[in-house]
Amino acid sequence: MNTPAISLKGLQKSYGQVNAVKGIDLTVNKGEFIALIGENGAGKTTTLAMLMGLMTPSSGFATILGHTPGTKPVRQKIGAMLQSTELPPVLKVHELIQLFASYYERPYDLANLIKLTQLDDILDRKYQALSGGQQRRVQFAIALCGQPEILFLDEPTVGLDMNVRREFWQILSDLKKSGTTIILTSHYLDEIEALSDRLIILKSGEIIADDMTSNIKKRAQHKNITCATNLDDIKLKAIPGVEAITKSGRLTTIATQQENQVLAELLRADPNLTDLSVYASTLEDALSNVLAPTTKN
Ligand code: ATP
Repeated sequence: MNTPAISLKGLQKSYGQVNAVKGIDLTVNKGEFIALIGENGAGKTTTLAMLMGLMTPSSGFATILGHTPGTKPVRQKIGAMLQSTELPPVLKVHELIQLFASYYERPYDLANLIKLTQLDDILDRKYQALSGGQQRRVQFAIALCGQPEILFLDEPTVGLDMNVRREFWQILSDLKKSGTTIILTSHYLDEIEALSDRLIILKSGEIIADDMTSNIKKRAQHKNITCATNLDDIKLKAIPGVEAITKSGRLTTIATQQENQVLAELLRADPNLTDLSVYASTLEDALSNVLAPTTKN
């Protein structure tokens, strides 16, 4: 039988009165790219901490590649980039990478790792002297330095500029192609849409959705028509098929499932409209209700 990458059975964690994770059952197969999402406080970081053996469950259990989290066979096979990472501030980048690589039996070839994570120019700089984005790159290199079979990434691209994020996405896609199992938490839905195969949504410590990302995206069936028009909301709402109208600056966006009829009517009612574009709904559209914050945690 194929051992799953991750198996959770009734995994639960309370902090005093706060029931942060409420008995999760989950199986992740090897090679899957999972996005774990949810509002602030949904229990994502707590779940990751238990998976990595940094925290003991209050009840239930987790296995990683068939072993208990935190044990040596697991530590050799996982890599992690957490939200808060403390590294020795006075060590230089190359010293940090060498130090962490030395913990692994099968480390990544360091020259290739440095090239991949673009650390060449800052190898001799002390960690404390790096910018936030550069520190994230070092943390990523450390997560990769044992050639992990499973990679845990907790909001890895927070604070990175768009170019760096895209380079990061490319590396993650390549890792996925080479068979690495990846568990990503992120609040950036474009990142999740671009990368993940499967989406798991946590809400108040429970899994409320678990499906292929493409299937969840399909749940928002509508198209968005964006244009600059002089028609007011009353006239727009009167067009058959218009479901919702939103405004952003001079642009109006109309959500509809009947884009051909709505477009024809729109152009008839306002032949002078400009900046017209039509696009399929996004993951954000599909998740807009699901991810709305709850008032109580
Ligand atoms: P975010 O997106 O904000 O990072 P999250 O989904 O990762 O949130 P967790 O950090 O796992 O959520 O927190 C889950 C719940 O547990 C929250 O209500 C949080 O306040 C609570 N919690 C987390 N850590 C502790 C702690 N050490 N002591 C007490 N409560 C905690």
